Amino acid sequence: MLNVALVGHIDHGKSTLIGRLLYDTGSLPEGKLKEIKKTCESLGRKFEFAYLVDALEEERKKQMTIETAQTFFKSEKRDYAIIDAPGHKEFLKNMVTGVSQADAAILIVDVVEGLQEQTKRHAYLLKLLGIEKLIVVINKMDLVNYEKLKFEKTRNDVVSYLKDLGIEPTCIIPISAYEGDNVVKKSEKMRWYNGPTVMRALDAIEKKEMFYHFRLPIQDEYEMGGEKIYVGNILSGEVKKGDVVKCYPEEKEVKIEKILVYENEVETAKAPQAVGIIVDSELKRGCVLGKGERPLVTRNVSSLLFSLVGDVKEGEKYLMRCVTQEVECRVEKVLEKIDINTLERLSGKELKETEIGKVELSFEKPVVVEKFNKLKELGRFVLMKEGKIIAGGIVV
Ligand code: GDP
Repeated sequence: MLNVALVGHIDHGKSTLIGRLLYDTGSLPEGKLKEIKKTCESLGRKFEFAYLVDALEEERKKQMTIETAQTFFKSEKRDYAIIDAPGHKEFLKNMVTGVSQADAAILIVDVVEGLQEQTKRHAYLLKLLGIEKLIVVINKMDLVNYEKLKFEKTRNDVVSYLKDLGIEPTCIIPISAYEGDNVVKKSEKMRWYNGPTVMRALDAIEKKEMFYHFRLPIQDEYEMGGEKIYVGNILSGEVKKGDVVKCYPEEKEVKIEKILVYENEVETAKAPQAVGIIVDSELKRGCVLGKGERPLVTRNVSSLLFSLVGDVKEGEKYLMRCVTQEVECRVEKVLEKIDINTLERLSGKELKETEIGKVELSFEKPVVVEKFNKLKELGRFVLMKEGKIIAGGIVV
């Protein structure tokens, strides 16, 4: 399954594109399209794919309680979930807390209206979240007679704006979501375009490989029959009896003498198993055992921070919790921030409750983390004060 975020200015055709993708890939529930067409007719309205998407969403809302709207469809190659953003706040929160993580994004731009404020803000957001794989679609080509020159003008504006942000889209596709040109079927009306359709472009995106290096944060220790057993959940990779692994942040080598899963001794264990291990030396709660690539062991972390209650201020101290680690930290600098409701870029030395920002943190002692887009569990954390969670963040 590939998770794709769909963003763009209001009315540029997000719902229509989703409806078209569902329809042309045969992913619609039986009879649904007919039903909506009939309703439109009886109301004397033009058929809109958006009604279809809304109707599907209504049904889903009754069954589920997730905040982001997700729509599913299938190509010949694989399954897709499109993450639509009903509100920026939910979208950001879900992205940051890992509820929904996009592997790629589609940015939709109306060929007539061109680059708009929201288009820019959404593009910036993608950049902030580190989504590197971006497909740009220039929509409503039917309104400009499928003219190449019109496409090129809008394309050039978009490309130049994205370049300033440091984003290079994987492709830029002229489409008509409404008519179905270059969405799943190649357009007969734009023979001047030789690139892929939206479906092909999505199929060509390679999902990032699963992180495979062994990581086991130590949660607790027990004594059993005179032996010390350390327990925790393996976050990634696997471990074998006899392996020599490293204990971070100290980086000392330890030998795995026994592995227990539900009190039974086993030869190997892998993510996401909960294990007990016996090793040849003392370990501290909160340390992380690792093998292969070295994790980030550092006293300074660049993060994307999301304030949940109250303000997060420069110079303030918090307790950072990341899986089993709890380390005191200080907010060194708020580098940049945006308002999550308007996505307006702001400056200032604190993050208010409705803001998200790039923040430098420093720690009292080294922490063991990974970048969020590498290993979610070791890449997200919370900041606490007096036992309460104040903010959530990811390592970028
Ligand atoms: P959203 O706000 O981004 O989800 O935009 P919608 O999908 O609701 O589309 C807004 C309006 O643009 C609707 O009236 C659509 O029918 C229309 N629209 C969307 N795509 C196209 C297109 O390719 N061609 C034309 N002519 N109209 C379109």
